Amino acid sequence: MVNITIDGKNYLVNEKLSLLETLQSLELEIPTFCRDNRSEEKLGICGMCAVSIDGTVTKSCKTLPTEGMVIDTKAPEVIDNRKKLLQKYIDNHHVNCLVCQKSGQCKLQEYCYKYGVDKTIPNSLNLLPIDDSNPFFIIDPNKCIGCGKCAQICRNLQCNHALKLKTTDGKIHTWANKTDNINSSTCVSCGNCVSFCPTAGLLPKYKHQFRHWETKTVKTTCGYCGVGCQINFEVKDNVIVESHPILVKPNVGLLCVKGKFGFSYV
Ligand code: SF4
Ligand code: SF4
Ligand code: SF4
Repeated sequence: MVNITIDGKNYLVNEKLSLLETLQSLELEIPTFCRDNRSEEKLGICGMCAVSIDGTVTKSCKTLPTEGMVIDTKAPEVIDNRKKLLQKYIDNHHVNCLVCQKSGQCKLQEYCYKYGVDKTIPNSLNLLPIDDSNPFFIIDPNKCIGCGKCAQICRNLQCNHALKLKTTDGKIHTWANKTDNINSSTCVSCGNCVSFCPTAGLLPKYKHQFRHWETKTVKTTCGYCGVGCQINFEVKDNVIVESHPILVKPNVGLLCVKGKFGFSYV
């Protein structure tokens, strides 16, 4: 255990947990797009979790606490760094929140609102082709911010390698690994990447039109097999419109294709 100071208060913390995990365990709100605490691999791609550590803006996911460390999570340079990153993401993003199905559940939208980033140039982008080859979800590089979380989930949690980050016309985005489209990859359509994409880069092929604030959430146990996966169904007008895995045992945020997409039988 080590003594550190966070926002002027002293804490005794575990030196083996990353600073981001420490800050999250103290319920301090630290933005992140790429970090998934279920995976040991720390990508450090998005940069949003950076805080001031002994006066230098540093990624908290990549830092372990050390004795006497002084952390400021709200310093002007920290907020400025987040705003600059968000502006960079938005400048390369097909911003159409008015009709985007992710609106209301999108981390990019949420953080831009929170940090007052609103200078969007929606019509200046050359749109890249969407991969809609999978029966259950699409890959939209124009909505992807290149955080790499989906590929990490597929690789480390699903133990598959169906996704990778690639660069097209200077834009980093996710795409099928070693092939032209996701349907001809090793993808098993589990949707575990889709469930935790922070934007509409990966989006279910919804059968019903809905807004997230129009639904009610019903917690249930998947009825397909004996594992007992925990699911939140989103329900609009008595119809299930979406399925989200819950971050509790036994499935800890993972599902198979049946639990994620096969709910119309209900
Ligand atoms: S992905 Fe998010 S920021 Fe982009 S258009 Fe959709 S809701 Fe808006
Ligand atoms: S598709 Fe989503 S999770 Fe994957 S890299 Fe893009 S924004 Fe990140
Ligand atoms: S649906 Fe599952 S197997 Fe396919 S890319 Fe996503 S995580 Fe990988």
